[in-house]
Amino acid sequence: MSRHASDSNLIAATKFTSNGSKMEPMDIERIFGENAFGIEEMKNRLSPATFESLIATIDKGQQIDSAIADEVAKAMKEWAVERGASHFTHWFQPLTGSTAEKHDSFITPNKGGGAIAKFSGNDLIQGEPDASSFPSGGLRATFEARGYTVWDPTSPSFIIENKSGAYLAIPTAFASWSGEALDAKTPLLRSMHAIDDQARRALKLFGHDDVHKVTSTVGVEQEYFLIDEEYYYRRPDLMTSGRTLIGAKPPRGQELDDHYFGSIPDRVLSCMIETEKELYRLGIPVKTRHNEVAPSQYEIAPIFENTNVACDHQQLIMITLQRVARNHGMVCLLHEKPFAGINGSGKHNNWSIGTDTGINLLDPGDNPHDNLQFLYFCTAVIAAVYKHQDLLRVSVAHAANDHRLGANEAPPAIISIFLGEQLEDVFNQISSGTATESKQGGLLGLGTPVLPHLPRHAGDRNRTSPFAFTGNKFEFRAVGSSQSVSFPNTVLNTIVAEALDGMSGRLEAALSGGASLEDAVAGVVRETINDSKAIIFGGDNYSEAWHKEAERRGLLNLRNTVDALETLISEKNIRLFESYGVLSEAELRSREEVWFEQYFTKINIEAETTESIARTMVMPAATRYLKTLVDTIDQGKEVGVSVRGVKETAVHLAAYVDELQDSLTELIDANKELGGDSVHQKVHHMVKNVIPSMNKVRHACDRLERITAGDLWPVPTYRDMLFVK
Ligand code: ADP
Ligand code: MG
Repeated sequence: MSRHASDSNLIAATKFTSNGSKMEPMDIERIFGENAFGIEEMKNRLSPATFESLIATIDKGQQIDSAIADEVAKAMKEWAVERGASHFTHWFQPLTGSTAEKHDSFITPNKGGGAIAKFSGNDLIQGEPDASSFPSGGLRATFEARGYTVWDPTSPSFIIENKSGAYLAIPTAFASWSGEALDAKTPLLRSMHAIDDQARRALKLFGHDDVHKVTSTVGVEQEYFLIDEEYYYRRPDLMTSGRTLIGAKPPRGQELDDHYFGSIPDRVLSCMIETEKELYRLGIPVKTRHNEVAPSQYEIAPIFENTNVACDHQQLIMITLQRVARNHGMVCLLHEKPFAGINGSGKHNNWSIGTDTGINLLDPGDNPHDNLQFLYFCTAVIAAVYKHQDLLRVSVAHAANDHRLGANEAPPAIISIFLGEQLEDVFNQISSGTATESKQGGLLGLGTPVLPHLPRHAGDRNRTSPFAFTGNKFEFRAVGSSQSVSFPNTVLNTIVAEALDGMSGRLEAALSGGASLEDAVAGVVRETINDSKAIIFGGDNYSEAWHKEAERRGLLNLRNTVDALETLISEKNIRLFESYGVLSEAELRSREEVWFEQYFTKINIEAETTESIARTMVMPAATRYLKTLVDTIDQGKEVGVSVRGVKETAVHLAAYVDELQDSLTELIDANKELGGDSVHQKVHHMVKNVIPSMNKVRHACDRLERITAGDLWPVPTYRDMLFVK
């Protein structure tokens, strides 16, 4: 470790051990939701009629009555001003994957030369940010740059505070003047309608006339790294691209596994507690925290919520993690692979569907009749994932996640489903139509309603599957740590809606043909499972054997973002999204274009940063060291000391310097080119030429790092960043 680095470690450490300030106890019940305009607050502040009308929109999905907007706006403003807000913003989620906001003050001048706080129903319902530079993928020419934000009353507005003031953030959808979705929220909301419709239709067939709404639910486990802020500022690669573009693996990596679930370092714990406190205040029900596998890697997870709110809250969790870390002298890295050779970060997207009567439709339940219904919904998920492997893969495809998927630590790029031994066995029996017993005994044949009693935690856990049934929900594990979860869930909702649609059509036909519910369901489930069982796999997803087997089964293996994105605009996918009113063809095409463009831009930034670091930081450090060695050799000869070791070192060093120079020349050339005018040509240039050259430069830099004098090395090392906590 360089002298500089160890000094700073000391400073970092003392900053916290010497902080003797008293702990402030956290009264969760009191603070929970105090910064969110939730149901309780609405009830207190709105007239009963307005409150009822708003609740009908939130709970039953009814169209918002614009007549109530003024009253809601007034109440919301009063609440926000009481909490110190001076401004409001329409908070939206453009296709960049992050969130956007433009603040307006509540202040309006009055006649007397003073000012009053004003906020009308119109201000609440609709905004028109000057949003011409958000990506629209051709949906909106710049001369028609108008984009509108529209209030989403189903997600609570909230207050964002900082030392100097606060503002009210109103969750909104973002659309073009012609009504095309320019954001992540609009299609998600549409997909929630699709699954609501289809799930209710299916439930009617099972005799549930009392269900008025079915919602998909999501709980996301978020992984992240925390590193000392000082190191971050000394790493141009972390600053521009969120990951280290050079950096040799430390002698001690995560091999000891002593970090995982270990005790949480003090400074980190203090950061986590403050983060959680802020999240509680926003009404976000965070539940678990722990260390993750890699050094300096952690996880936070909330309790699940309805998917729309969960997606908004997920964005807020990421924002809050990043903001609060700064108060503790740290930076939160959300990138999927900040450090090569060290475990990357993902998020496990736990997904299920539930009714307003409190039934989790993916819970096997306690009685056989529930099982029948459970098997029906579970089959729909299996069929959906099988048919739309490509879409699930696309929904997690972006430049950063390419470092994870398919590498030996995250799920592979091949989508498959893990059901657990017992459930897999049940489906095997259903599939062959001769099911008579379960592994635990007691399973009776199909054709009777008496299906097995399924334990909530069937079998052991498989950590290698990209899509696993975990007791009463499916866990989509290929999602990247930095991405918005809106599109993955839009896809899940839509494809399961489609599968239910198809199954219910057949079920209705069988029932009207006079079949009993049990027989009809058994038939539809068997037929559907037989068509889609190739997606079920319970073994080791990392093994070479699985890759061969998956190929034999005809499953897709879309290895990188570009391969994945190229499947997005197919007839099948256009039809799917159009049929359920989730995305029009133009909206789908715009997403393809935006995501390709983003891929290109990200790789381009990385490649140029790599070039600059290698050229202006690594090469000078290496040559300085080489000069020292060469001078030593000369002087050593003069005074007659042995310079054999110095010479050997110099020879190695010089060879690596040559390697760096050669690879740099290649990268510089590749960076000068774009590969063509179209975005498709550009991304192919990135994959074919730029990324391989970038990897070569990195390889040379990492070799140099292992041999160059520590005090000359220009950036903090992995050891510095990962082990100072
Ligand atoms: P694990 O994955 O270790 O079993 P948990 O059981 O605590 O962890 O669940 C992980 C996440 O799954 C949490 O965010 C939890 O709220 C969420 N979850 C649990 N039930 C559901 C559900 N019905 N729908 C969506 N998410 C759920
Ligand atoms: Mg989990």
